[in-house]
Amino acid sequence: MTEVLIRGADHLVTMDDARRVLAGADILIRDGMIVDVGHGLTTSTGEVVLATGCVVTPGLVNTHHHLYQTLTRAVPAAQDALLFGWLQTLYPIWSRFGPEHMFVSAQVGLSELALSGCTLTSDHLYLFPNGARLDDTIEAAREVGLRFQPTRGAMSIGVSDGGLPPDALVEAEAAILEDCIRVIDAFHDGSESSMCRVGVAPCSPFSVSRELMRDAAILARDKGVMMHTHLAENDEDIAYSLSQFGCRPGEYAESLGWVGPDVWHAHCVKLDASEIALFAQTKTGVAHCPCSNCRLGSGIAPVRAMRDAGVPVGLGVDGSASNDAGNLAAEARQAMLLQRVAFGADAMSAMEALEIATRGGADVLGRPECGRIAIGARGDIAIWDVSGVASAGSWDPAALLLAGPTTVRDLFVEGRQVVRDGHMLTFDLNKAVQRQNVLARALQ
Ligand SMILES: [Zn+2]
Repeated sequence: MTEVLIRGADHLVTMDDARRVLAGADILIRDGMIVDVGHGLTTSTGEVVLATGCVVTPGLVNTHHHLYQTLTRAVPAAQDALLFGWLQTLYPIWSRFGPEHMFVSAQVGLSELALSGCTLTSDHLYLFPNGARLDDTIEAAREVGLRFQPTRGAMSIGVSDGGLPPDALVEAEAAILEDCIRVIDAFHDGSESSMCRVGVAPCSPFSVSRELMRDAAILARDKGVMMHTHLAENDEDIAYSLSQFGCRPGEYAESLGWVGPDVWHAHCVKLDASEIALFAQTKTGVAHCPCSNCRLGSGIAPVRAMRDAGVPVGLGVDGSASNDAGNLAAEARQAMLLQRVAFGADAMSAMEALEIATRGGADVLGRPECGRIAIGARGDIAIWDVSGVASAGSWDPAALLLAGPTTVRDLFVEGRQVVRDGHMLTFDLNKAVQRQNVLARALQ
């Protein structure tokens, strides 16, 4: 039996069903699960972590990322391009990646998330050049120690078939489905304490065929895994759907089985009222990526309307070629600010943004045992030191999003400490960063 007691947080923001915020409270974690939340808790054998001067929250949940892109941050020719031009600039660079690029970029991207409070993240890997495999990122996540939801992405319509990606980056559809089966059988763990759940994720309606979208949904449901893709990201995306499929993205998704509680779509900036109603009714999830949407000029996702209608919404940093940061706490702040730009200062509170970043994301990923601090939930905890300069003078724990800090002091995943005093505890991050810089230079 392994216990950890997190004691005496100034404010414990539970995100439990009652959304309680407790002063001076403790959390007891036993064998990876939260077994008690309250005052005056004790442990006879476990480690005690003092959280005075800190706000303690559930670990944040990232619902959309392309970890490999941490190798292509701030690429000059892609800095100011719209989505389709941006992709066409980056595809040739990504086509030179191999297994080591996938592994090292995942180590760095996952650490960046961990340091910003994230305990559970999905990843959407949809290109596999030069022998790269989903396995490379899963190995990195094991080393870093984050709870991982990798999705086996895919592109099958290359330039010669009227698609956007170069032919060298697309795969045959039969091979894609075969590899989906391989990685699910090898790595997917559906248990509540699972550290790895695999999903199926064709890249987007404009890079795979109608048949692959349909077959991927059938396969995912047969295997009992979740499904993910990009949808309705910007005006170009809507125009493509109308001209190629004769319908809006929501209708297209519905016609191929891509709605339901086992589906989540990234972006959804351009969903209209009927599509929002469809997603609410079917409990189809959305990964909201505010920084990426700003960076690519895609627009402001109607998150207020989605939440009011009952659409499950989580937060995503998106890939580091379109953010270019992977700080999830900063992303939560951006989500709050962006709704206010569009709909007024009362459109989203700091606590609602934090809720989207925690239990909201966990629910989108089908992990209701994560994203909240409650008895029976997993021991995924972020500890934020609010005694420093970023939040000095603040009156309320909402300062975490309104002011800062945006990096954690400590982080626990499944009761295991991953970050201590702002440093990765699980592996040598400096070495990975150095290697990453060598790889990035070689690509230039
Ligand atoms: Zn994306």
